[in-house]
Amino acid sequence: LAPIGMGGGFLLAWLLWRVAATQMSLPAAIRSGLRRREFFPLFQPIVRLADQRVVGAEALIRWRRSDGQLVAPDRFIGAAEGAGLIGLVTAEMFRMVEKTLAVLARHQDTPYLSLNLSPGDFHSDDTEQRLHTLLARSGASASQVVLEITERGFADIGHARVVVNRLRGQGFRVSIDDFGTGYSSLSDLVRLDVDTIKIDKAFVDSIDAVAATNHIAAHIVEMAHGMSLGMVAEGIERGSQVQVLRSWGVEYGQGYFFAQPMSGDDFLALVHAQTPR
Ligand code: C2E
Ligand code: CA
Ligand code: CA
Ligand code: CA
Repeated sequence: LAPIGMGGGFLLAWLLWRVAATQMSLPAAIRSGLRRREFFPLFQPIVRLADQRVVGAEALIRWRRSDGQLVAPDRFIGAAEGAGLIGLVTAEMFRMVEKTLAVLARHQDTPYLSLNLSPGDFHSDDTEQRLHTLLARSGASASQVVLEITERGFADIGHARVVVNRLRGQGFRVSIDDFGTGYSSLSDLVRLDVDTIKIDKAFVDSIDAVAATNHIAAHIVEMAHGMSLGMVAEGIERGSQVQVLRSWGVEYGQGYFFAQPMSGDDFLALVHAQTPR
């Protein structure tokens, strides 16, 4: 039998590693991805609908696996939550947005950064410490950080109220993400005393369709106005949707119509290209 040379040895090791990597469970792959720094953030601008001025961005996590495959958050956030790894993912995300937030903090418009929290993050004591580390390292103030939490995070409305009040007391802004898509009672949610709600893409999609959801969306907006909540509509893809949302009194929006999620450098360039207010 001919000895496998150095090259063959490496090839064999590589093949074994590839097999192991593809057979790794998702949680194990997430752990190794965190160690290998395979995650990175993209930033999607949030604009004022009246003049399309950029007021902030939502940070969206991405995962480029070692084989080059790009994995969307919908494919791994749930697994991270289920495996008790979401805290590590969130901590990594906070670390990765530090630099961008630091530049935003020095910009005179002080655009904000919106960060997604999973229900587990929202109810964990570690998150507060991690948020303060983010502020300390970036020099940003708490008011420049918006925390997006979906309705699932508010299932225990009593505890949610305590957490929301504590975070807001420290100056962070709190937003209910994907508002109106869950099963919680809307009147419960609006009594939470958050800063803003994000109107889910499903409602924005329904605008052109004149569907039943259209009326629900109009009702939600009306109710939010009554509570003087800020409103951001997500997933805006067409100018016609902007017109309707504005006629409803929705002030801010986000979507491919304005900009796709982009790198931190591209987002900062966009902010710097704006004439100061
Ligand atoms: P989300 O919070 O509702 O984020 C909005 C999603 O809509 C993003 O998908 C964004 O890329 C996409 N989007 C924005 N504008 C448009 C548009 O005009 N058309 C269409 N079709 N899509 C648009 P993405 O980045 O794949 O994120 C999916 C979800 O993963 C997010 O939904 C959020 O729930 C979760 N997620 C993302 N990043 C994080 C994170 O850092 N932590 C946690 N816990 N969850 C995250
Ligand atoms: Ca979000
Ligand atoms: Ca959303
Ligand atoms: Ca959504």
